[in-house]
Amino acid sequence: MTDTLARPAAVDYAATASQAYRAALAVIETVEPRIADATRAELADQRDSLKLIASENYASPAVLLTMGTWLSDKYAEGTVGHRFYAACQNIDTVESIAAEHARALFGADYAYAQPHSGIDANLVAFWAILAHRVELPELAELGVKGVNDLTEEQWETLRHKFGNQRALGMSLDAGGHLTHGFRPNISGKMFHQRSYGTDPKTQLLDYDAVRRTAHEFKPLVLIAGYSAYPRRVNFAKMREIADEVGATFMVDMAHFAGLVAGKVFTGEEDPVPYAHLVTTTTHKSLRGPRGGMVLATKDYAEDVDRGCPMVLGGPMGHVMAAKAVALAEARTPEFRTYAAAVADNAKTLADGFLRRGATLVTGGTDNHLVLLDVSGYGLTGRQAESALLDAGIVTNRNAVPSDPNGAWYTSGVRLGTPALTTRGFGADEFDRVAELAVNVLKNTTPVTASTGMPGKAKYALADGVAHATKAATAEMLAANPLYPGLEL
Ligand SMILES: *Cc1c(COP(=O)(O)O)cnc(C)c1O
Repeated sequence: MTDTLARPAAVDYAATASQAYRAALAVIETVEPRIADATRAELADQRDSLKLIASENYASPAVLLTMGTWLSDKYAEGTVGHRFYAACQNIDTVESIAAEHARALFGADYAYAQPHSGIDANLVAFWAILAHRVELPELAELGVKGVNDLTEEQWETLRHKFGNQRALGMSLDAGGHLTHGFRPNISGKMFHQRSYGTDPKTQLLDYDAVRRTAHEFKPLVLIAGYSAYPRRVNFAKMREIADEVGATFMVDMAHFAGLVAGKVFTGEEDPVPYAHLVTTTTHKSLRGPRGGMVLATKDYAEDVDRGCPMVLGGPMGHVMAAKAVALAEARTPEFRTYAAAVADNAKTLADGFLRRGATLVTGGTDNHLVLLDVSGYGLTGRQAESALLDAGIVTNRNAVPSDPNGAWYTSGVRLGTPALTTRGFGADEFDRVAELAVNVLKNTTPVTASTGMPGKAKYALADGVAHATKAATAEMLAANPLYPGLEL
């Protein structure tokens, strides 16, 4: 993987990174050896596991090393050039470079690199929309400049208006995300929420149904984006619907940002030209540090800039620096090759499952993930996830549309290609992964609960299958090492 990264030719990347990590661990060891041990153990685990969790990836040593510095020690609340603390010049530099790369990479008017995570990016976006659409018009009507100029009574009225807005997003069981208006999340408490699902027959996004719901519900915010929908979305169509009902169009590309960055999603499948605001994580398919980001049109830039102190505290300088490094990597031709391989590999994986008789939600994929419906094997998602894990295949269970087993046990397993593609897995390996996974599922039986009903959690995996599968995956992992040349 390391040879896909831009770097000065004079540096032996793997050897230098090895030295850096060895030194870092030796220093940590002097204070709390158990942390050094856990850090080493995590590298071994990552190297030894067949990671198919669709939201995970492996950031480069350059990205990871960038996070371990004194940039962490600086308070810099505010925005570039406008901080509530003194001596923020280096954080200004770091944040500007991250934003510059993000704007160039995604063709966005404006980029905000401060959010600490995807959920924070969404909070910033939601409150920016509320500020822009609810607060600004109210202040203008009352002829005051800021919220601090309002009387108690005016402020109460405004607060109630904030709490009475509507948001329309994709339903959780169709692949949407918890932060798109669901009750257990703050988004479901701050908005009146309704959701759109997928067509019951095709399991594909039904734009006419989205349109009908939007016209009836008249949301302030229309949200697109997903974490478990294995297809591309036409963002031009979604924007058209938003415009028809006067909604702000927000896209959460947390999962597929790498495919946008790598120009796999272009034209009407690229959210940036169509959305008023685009939110993302930086650690999933984008392969950066754990964090979030908001892209916005000029109209919303000022509102997004108020993310701190609106919902964020001080930005993390070390993580913004690592975002800048990851975004610089994502602007290389090598990253485009990587992103194309992520999508190609997902197709190979899906075809591999289908050829072996498996059922996939929507019948396939055209992004980075597949959603396997395991009910045909007589299993719940929970049982399938556990059996696969016993055999060394790391996935996560996930609801399928209208899932009879609910969100805990589920009937599906989600598999993604970003992480193993980073290791160098190609078509042969992904077809083999499908073969091994199907074999595990065919050899797993649900264990009947004491009630006499089929249990939803317990299962039995036929003798020898776990061992044989682990041996086969170990071979593939050894042939495609994680961080080649990196030795602790
Ligand atoms: C992962 C994800 C998030 C949340 O990201 P965190 O960094 O875990 O907070 C938000 N939205 C979508 C669509 C996601 O897939």
